[in-house]
Amino acid sequence: MTGQIVIAGAGVAGATAARTLRDAGYSGRIVLVGAESHAPYRRPMVSKDLLAGTRDVGRCLLEPETYWAGNGIELRVATTVTDIDTDHGRVWLSSGEALGYDSLLLATGARARRLEQHPPVRVRTLRGVGDIAALRAAIDSGPLLIVGGGLVGLEVAATARGLGAEVHILHAGAAPLDRVVPQEVSELVQYLHAEHGVRIDSNVRLTGIEQIDTRGVVATATDGRTWTGSSALVAIGAEPDTALARTAGIAVDAGILVDEWYRTSAAGVFAAGDVARRFTAHRGRHERSEHWNSALAQGAAAAKSMLGQPVTELELPWGWTTQYGVSLQFAGWMQSREELVVRGAIESRNFTVLALSGGALVGAITVGRPRDIRAARELIATGAVLPSADWADEAVDLTRIVQAPLPVRR
Ligand code: NAD
Repeated sequence: MTGQIVIAGAGVAGATAARTLRDAGYSGRIVLVGAESHAPYRRPMVSKDLLAGTRDVGRCLLEPETYWAGNGIELRVATTVTDIDTDHGRVWLSSGEALGYDSLLLATGARARRLEQHPPVRVRTLRGVGDIAALRAAIDSGPLLIVGGGLVGLEVAATARGLGAEVHILHAGAAPLDRVVPQEVSELVQYLHAEHGVRIDSNVRLTGIEQIDTRGVVATATDGRTWTGSSALVAIGAEPDTALARTAGIAVDAGILVDEWYRTSAAGVFAAGDVARRFTAHRGRHERSEHWNSALAQGAAAAKSMLGQPVTELELPWGWTTQYGVSLQFAGWMQSREELVVRGAIESRNFTVLALSGGALVGAITVGRPRDIRAARELIATGAVLPSADWADEAVDLTRIVQAPLPVRR
């Protein structure tokens, strides 16, 4: 298998694709192009150990630094793909270099969303290693306002509290983490943060944040309330980085549109990871996932697809967050539920919440029961159907259900 493959984006999807190509025996040229100045690293560490300063990026690399050259993968860091000629299979890099390709993978990821009027100083976002120094200085210099009660906002709040900073979270949603967890779990998250001295205000509609003088910022809500801090972190979600694809005339609609085989609308061009909105027949629609595990699976699957091999990877959203030493794992599609059942007691911080639809499991969240999430991922994927009393009954071990043949929902 020879030829030339270019990968735009050296996050987990792009890097995994490069590694999978080599592991699958592809012997052609691979060029992996990444905008960040580091070799591919574990982005989930950014809001935790890397921000806390308990690890440096060299200890968070996806592969040892020497792996890429050692496997004949040309890694170009601090470089972007600036243009694509889809008719002639050519890309241009920010370094001025032009490269031909047989296949091109777009794994350009997502960017932190910004406020409409986003002050240039004292208001930060956090997406990668390059954002850490400024945010860390903000944490060290005093009260931090965090706009957004999602995964970034809450993880940074926990890290900042660990560093002794005063933290106040303001967010638009009804409860923290409400995009990911049901209200009952959201209340636990809120309680956990209150216990550690973080104040959280929900349902806040901000008109904006202004720099008040050289020392601080003020956030103002539509109802007239104001909050002051030394600096602010804006953590209000991510948006797919589709500019390169769009300019090249590749079909984009809230993400680069790809089919089940990760093929975009342009011949020989594939997309995977946070930037891709993939069609799956079993869900009957295009969906975009922003989870680390999805990007990992998609990078591997897109590589196989580029080699003409079948794509069999299971694609089930699955993730985790750790705050104040409490690890919460989630899988599936909580929003698709008709019913929720709880195993254990949420307030005991040892529980699994199962989301059911038509007697089948569609989503799960756990604290303290990692075995349950492993089983739940399998049960969601297979569509096993049980009476809801059995789903709720702790005597019915989820791992045993996986092993037993059960009726499945078609
Ligand atoms: P998010 O979607 O998880 O949360 C966004 C939060 O911002 C929500 O609380 C929402 O109510 C709030 N919000 C949105 N617009 C607002 C506004 N104008 N004013 C105030 N609040 C507003 O996004 P995030 O926390 O920024 O994370 C970005 C991405 O990174 C996500 O895809 C997330 O899944 C990913 N991430 C994942 C992990 C993990 O899996 N552990 C950790 C960090 C980041």
